Amino acid sequence: MITDFTYLKPGSMKEALQMLKEHEEDCKIICGGQSLLVIMRQGLLSPEYVISIKGLKDANYLTYDAKDGLKIGATCTHRTLEHSSLAKEKFPALAEMEEKLASIQVRNWGTVAGNLAHGDPAGDPAPVLIAMGASVKLGSASGERIVPLDGFYPDLFETVMNHDELILEIQVPTRPARTATKYQKFNLLDSDMGLIGVAVTVTMDGDTCKDARVVLGSAAPTVIRAREAEKVLVGAKLDDDLFEKAGVAAAAECSPVSDIHASEEYRRHLVSILTKRMAKAACEQAKISG
Ligand SMILES: Cc1cc2nc3c(=O)[nH]c(=O)nc-3n(C[C@H](O)[C@H](O)[C@H](O)COP(=O)(O)OP(=O)(O)OC[C@H]3O[C@@H](n4cnc5c(N)ncnc54)[C@H](O)[C@@H]3O)c2cc1C
Repeated sequence: MITDFTYLKPGSMKEALQMLKEHEEDCKIICGGQSLLVIMRQGLLSPEYVISIKGLKDANYLTYDAKDGLKIGATCTHRTLEHSSLAKEKFPALAEMEEKLASIQVRNWGTVAGNLAHGDPAGDPAPVLIAMGASVKLGSASGERIVPLDGFYPDLFETVMNHDELILEIQVPTRPARTATKYQKFNLLDSDMGLIGVAVTVTMDGDTCKDARVVLGSAAPTVIRAREAEKVLVGAKLDDDLFEKAGVAAAAECSPVSDIHASEEYRRHLVSILTKRMAKAACEQAKISG
């Protein structure tokens, strides 16, 4: 049961930040409510104040330019990103990831920023965005700061955000030439969180890998980079043998749990297979991308 709270409805992001400052000790931001209301109903959170940023027009945008890259405003929904022609053209892995995130109803209402702020290690956007080198712009009444998403999650369901801060915007840098990202999750139920999710970005120079990011979801208390797997790929001429080695390295360095859905051993196996497949797919895509 949800306990009583005071619902605050600011008219602008500036007003929201001021309210957050006034009530930071016992307050939560709500946007789509797709995660917050679940945990409030479970009694895991009982904030005194809930500040709704849903409908704030100054935070509802999705823009791209070659210099600054893609910018996703705080109230931009999953569905907007999924259908964005900009995302489909410039960051196809993001739009493809959204197609398989939850149901249309959840995507219509839930936001990308809310998903990232919730900090679930099984969330789909974080691995893809970290693989793309994305950052979040955090705001408070006293200023703004940019934080790379790689480093945003210190622990399970925790972020480095202070109590008086919120995510104003997600920033995805323009892709270098010959760069591609691929993401796949393995889930038992359609439209559900993955047992494991793997995102791989590679930048190619001919057959040689110039740069790589391998990012794992549901494979540790937080979304993590598989740095040993990245070392296998970077500087090497990529072939099936190396994709396999990268998969083995990723499986060795993650720390998944055993639960009713899958054993630790099975999850490690999935990490190995998905890393191998995503690295190969990203490599093939990067070689033909401009
Ligand atoms: C049935 C179901 C299936 C789902 N399946 C998937 C799935 O397959 N993959 C997946 O990745 N996710 C899945 N989700 C999670 C869903 O994507 C998130 O619930 C949603 O994106 C959260 O966004 P929201 O706007 O609803 O956030 P809210 O629920 O409003 O907020 C979530 C958290 O983020 C905070 N918050 C919200 N906005 C901000 C902000 N701008 N700055 C700082 N803090 C903020 C809130 O205080 C709260 O702590 C599923 C959810 C449901 C209900």
